[in-house]
Amino acid sequence: LSNSRARPTVDLDAPGLRRGHFVLPWSRDDSAWGALRIPFLVANGGSGPRVLVCGGNHGDEFEGPLAITRLASRLQLADVGGRLILVPFLNYPAVRAGSRTSPIDGGNMNRSFVGRRLGTLTEQFAYFVQHELVSRADAVIDLHSGGRSMQFVPFAGYHVRDGAPGESLSRELAAAFAAPIALAMTELDDEGMLDSAVEGAGKAFLTTEIGGGGSTDASSVRLADDGLCRALRHLHVLRTGDPPPAAPPRWLRNDDRGYVSAEADGLLEYHVLLGAEVRAGQLLATIHDFDSFTLVRHQVCAPIDGVFLGRRHDGLARNGDFLALIAQELA
Ligand SMILES: [Zn+2]
Repeated sequence: LSNSRARPTVDLDAPGLRRGHFVLPWSRDDSAWGALRIPFLVANGGSGPRVLVCGGNHGDEFEGPLAITRLASRLQLADVGGRLILVPFLNYPAVRAGSRTSPIDGGNMNRSFVGRRLGTLTEQFAYFVQHELVSRADAVIDLHSGGRSMQFVPFAGYHVRDGAPGESLSRELAAAFAAPIALAMTELDDEGMLDSAVEGAGKAFLTTEIGGGGSTDASSVRLADDGLCRALRHLHVLRTGDPPPAAPPRWLRNDDRGYVSAEADGLLEYHVLLGAEVRAGQLLATIHDFDSFTLVRHQVCAPIDGVFLGRRHDGLARNGDFLALIAQELA
C-alpha cells in the first residue's frame, strides 16, 4: 500500500470476495482515537478487467448508492471475472448527512482529487482513492444524480478527449448503460474531479446524471440498477444478471455554450419542461423580483438550439446559480 492514511480491513489483492471497510483516522474532541469507516466490497475473480464502481461521491445523490448497495448485497465470487471494487458511499459523511459536501470539513469529494495525504479528511480519502483504488482499476464507473439543487433528463456520459487512451471504451460504456440519453460531454469545471484523475491516468471513465432533487423514484433507481449491470456486463467483469434489454440511447453532445447561469436573485419560473427541444433565443425561465410585482430581474434564454437536459431544482435563483444545460444532437 502507498503512504495513504486510510487502510482497508480486508486485502484488496487476495483472491476471493470480501466485504470490509476503509478505515481513516479521524481524531476529534468527542472521539480522540476515532476513525471514519467507509464500507466497500472487493471481488478478485481471476484474470480479467479491473473495475472500480463508486456512488455517493456527492452525498445528496442516491441512485448510485442504492444500486451499488444492492449489487454488493447479492454479489458472489462466481459472478465476477477479473476484479470488481464497489464503494457505494465515496463521501461517506456526506451521504450520512444527505448533503453534497462533507459535514466534517465541507469537502466536495469531486473537487478534491488527486487528494492530499495530510489534507482535510475528504482530501485524505481522495488521496487514498487515487493511489489505492484508481491505480487498481482499468475502468471506473462513478454514478451521479442531480442532487438537491439540480434535475436532469437521465444520461450516461463520457468526456470528449480527442482519442486519448480510454476514450473509446468510455464511449462504449455510455452506450451500454442505455440511459435515455448518452452524452459526449464537456464539463463546466473539471478541476479536482475523480473523472479527470481517472482519465489523466489513461483509463476508461463512465459518469451518469440520473434524476435529481435530492431523492429517488422507482424509475430512476431501476435505471441505475439495470444500467450499472449493463455496463459491467459490457466490461465482462460481471458474468451474471440479465438486465432487461433497453432501447439504444439518443446521442447528444454538449460544450461550454450550453451552460446557462443566473444573472440575478429572485423567484425562478421555468417556462419549458425538461427534455423539451428548444431554439436559440427561446425564453427558458424568468427570475422575478421579490419586492416589486412588475419587475423582472432576468430573462433566461436558450443560448443555442438543442435539448433542455438539465436545470436547477430549487424554486429560487441566486446570481451565479446553474440554471440550464442545453445539449445538441451529436453530428
Ligand atoms: Zn454528483
